[in-house]
Amino acid sequence: MDTSNLRTLELTETLLGFYDGRVPGRELGPDPTWVDDGALSLGTCSFAIVDGGEALVYDTHVSVSHARAVRAEVERRGASRITVVLSHWHLDHIAGTEAFADCEVIANALTAELMTAHRAEIEEGRRAGPPAISPLILPTRTFTGELHLDVGGVGVDLLEFDIHSRDATVLHIPAEGVLLAGDTLEDTVTYVSEPDGLGRHLEELERLRALGATRIYPNHGSVEAMAGGGYGEGLILATERYIEALLRHARDPRPEDADMRAFVADSLAQGWIGYFAPYERVHESNLESVRG
Ligand SMILES: [Zn+2]
Repeated sequence: MDTSNLRTLELTETLLGFYDGRVPGRELGPDPTWVDDGALSLGTCSFAIVDGGEALVYDTHVSVSHARAVRAEVERRGASRITVVLSHWHLDHIAGTEAFADCEVIANALTAELMTAHRAEIEEGRRAGPPAISPLILPTRTFTGELHLDVGGVGVDLLEFDIHSRDATVLHIPAEGVLLAGDTLEDTVTYVSEPDGLGRHLEELERLRALGATRIYPNHGSVEAMAGGGYGEGLILATERYIEALLRHARDPRPEDADMRAFVADSLAQGWIGYFAPYERVHESNLESVRG
């Protein structure tokens, strides 16, 4: 797969971002794959912490070619021991794991269970259509609740959350106020993949906010915000307001709800999120899924 638009971002002294997508002039074709539709059109970023000869890679990007480029970059920066952490089981987060097949791959137990249950579909390209992910590399180590790891001198906590998908794992670096949020947060709006879970997601977002992170990096957001120090807690507040508004829409749908810019006007005015037009399709699908 083409990696010519993959950019390495130096986010902190020890944190790298690997950003692809939101490429101007690249409109979606009539039959977009899950790579184009769910990831590259919205912008997608995976991350790595590199310190003291060690690296922790958070998500393996949208293809094995992307993941090989990520691996080459962290090795070039001196990492010889690499650990992979998967944020959740969705395809755009696990597609490149084959490039790390010789490394420890950590996920929460639910992620491992979901990957195992859907393995055949994913390997045959039937889960969300092609491209298939084959072979699908499964986690080699699982945890439940939380797991502390040291990456060189950087202490990180992996924390399980039920937001966006019930198997989310976020990565918190308490000493730096850094939070790698996976798909629990997105800019412009969260993608509703489990509409029955929205009530739980709201409670869990408050638990996420209580971590007090000040530099938040979602996997789908704007490259300018990522490179500019990350998002603030406003991204969490914006996600809460959006979900509350979706729940209202389910009870009381109004024609004007179709306009995403108006739907999230308050959060845009606060500067918590930015308007990105390709999220209109996500918003449309969210409205549909909450109406059931
Ligand atoms: Zn995603």
